[in-house]
Order: sequence, then structure tokens, then C-alpha cells
Amino acid sequence: MTSILSAAYFHNESAAYEFVEARLWPNGPVCPHCGVIGGHYQLKGESTRIGLWKCKDCRKPFTVKMGTIFEKSHIPLRLWLQAIFLIACSKKGISSNQLHRTLGITLKSAWFMSHRIREAMRSGEFAPFGSDGGAVEVDETFIGHDKTIKPKGQKKGRGYHHKNKVLALVDRTTGRAISMVVDDVKASTLAPLIKANVAREARLITDEAAYYTIVGREFAEHGVVRHQAGEYGRGDIHTNTIEGYFSIFKRGMKGVYHHCGHHHLNRYLAEFDFRYNNRKALGIEDRERAEILLRGVKGRRLTYETTSE
Ligand SMILES: [Zn+2]
Repeated sequence: MTSILSAAYFHNESAAYEFVEARLWPNGPVCPHCGVIGGHYQLKGESTRIGLWKCKDCRKPFTVKMGTIFEKSHIPLRLWLQAIFLIACSKKGISSNQLHRTLGITLKSAWFMSHRIREAMRSGEFAPFGSDGGAVEVDETFIGHDKTIKPKGQKKGRGYHHKNKVLALVDRTTGRAISMVVDDVKASTLAPLIKANVAREARLITDEAAYYTIVGREFAEHGVVRHQAGEYGRGDIHTNTIEGYFSIFKRGMKGVYHHCGHHHLNRYLAEFDFRYNNRKALGIEDRERAEILLRGVKGRRLTYETTSE
């Protein structure tokens, strides 16, 4: 067995382009200007940029990087592929500092790359959870310190008012998770998010928090775990799956990322959701996970330019 790290696309720029082109253009090169597929001219020659094509119709030049997270980046494509592989395959994530040292790029470039890669990890559309009438666990957790919140009176440091709030859902049948930052844990905030992501046929499973009571009536069944009464669950009425998800997320955020600002938290959630939804237990190995991530680089909006964390 040869090492995955010896693959040519990690070391040779032309091979890197060919690798990405084969995956993003399975039916032949696509002109990003006019949309025409195939039959374009590959420009070659000593002074020509690697991966440059010319459209057979509109005659404009293009590369496979256009319209992806790689666009306008001066970092070689082979290093992007190395970074994608490292992020896709490290169980708890990989810090910008580690990426900076491993790839030999500046810390600023590493930070920028890793945030772009997180954008590619945002899951596409999938069917509402619990569509088969199965169990969907829903729970919230509190993490880090949301510095955008002003302390209320003298209660500073107590409770969870000042923390970031995260809502997560796990579909027990498919084993997939989706998580999101929420402003607060009021019923009026959580109910629309739960209704938008969970099928009415589902069996909703939550703890006894009051904010789940009314929304629970929208579903085929609402199983409630009474933690206050010292209960961990009855039969399959438990929230162990989602607690497992939160523990992986929290270990990664604490150990690898040392927490992050409120406005970046959604990107980290996308990263942990991606790895969880493409994990080994679901039959997805490292190489395949990296390829799934690579297919997500297309059509991502990049609106952030800052490096403040
Ligand atoms: Zn064209």
C-alpha cells in the first residue's frame, strides 16, 4: 500500500489542476463566462499559466479555479489539496497555526485558506430529518463567550446568558447532524428552526426544557427525557446521540481551535457537521471524505476579507 501523501496532485501543479478538473468538470471543461461545456482549447506553452483554457464560443480565457473557493488565491493548487486533505481527515479539526507550519505558508494564508475550506463544508440541501418517521434528537448547548452580548446587571459570569448558543439536530436513521448558532433559546426562536428542518412524521426527542413543549406538538410524537428527575432515558427516548455530537464539537473547539469569535462559530459548526456526516462509521474513508469536500468548492460566496478572529 502506498502513502496517500505520495499522490502526484499533492506535489505537482499540473497534476493538481488535472485532479481538480476531473472532479469539477466530469463532462469536460465548463466555460464560466457562457456556460458552454466541452470542446474548449487548452492553452499550453512555456509562458502560459498552468490550467488555462480558452472558450471555443466566447473566446474568453478561464481556469477551473473560477467560481470556486480557490478563485483569486495565489496559493498553489497543490497546497490547497494538501490543506483539504488535512482538514477533511483530522478528527477534531486542524488549527491555522498547524496548517501554517505543515504547509510552509504564512499564518495569514493558512487562516484564510481554512475559512474558505469551511465554506466548502457547508452541507448542501438534504431531505428534512425524520422523513421516514424515525427519531430526531434536538438539543442546545452553550459554548465559549459571546463578546457581542453586553452583561446584564451584576449577573456577569453566571448562567449562560453571555455564552454562544448552539442548536443541533441529529437524525438517528441517517446518522446525520445539522447545527446552527442561535441568538437565544426562546421557544419563538427555536420552533421555526426545528419546523424547517424536521419532517412532521418524525418522532421528536428532546429534554424537558419548556421551549420544546409547544413545538413538540407539531410532530407525530414528542419523546421527553426528564433530566431534572435524574433520568437518562427510557428505551429509545434518550438524547445520547446528540450529546455525543456535542462532545466531539466541544473537544475540538477547546483543544484545537481554543474557541473562536461569535461571528465565526457558524463556520466551525459547518466543519464539525461535515466531518460527522461523512464519518467512518457511515462507511466514508479519509480519501473519499476529502473528495466530497473538494466537490463542495464550487459556487461559494466569499464575503469575508478580515483576519481578525
Ligand atoms: Zn465561453
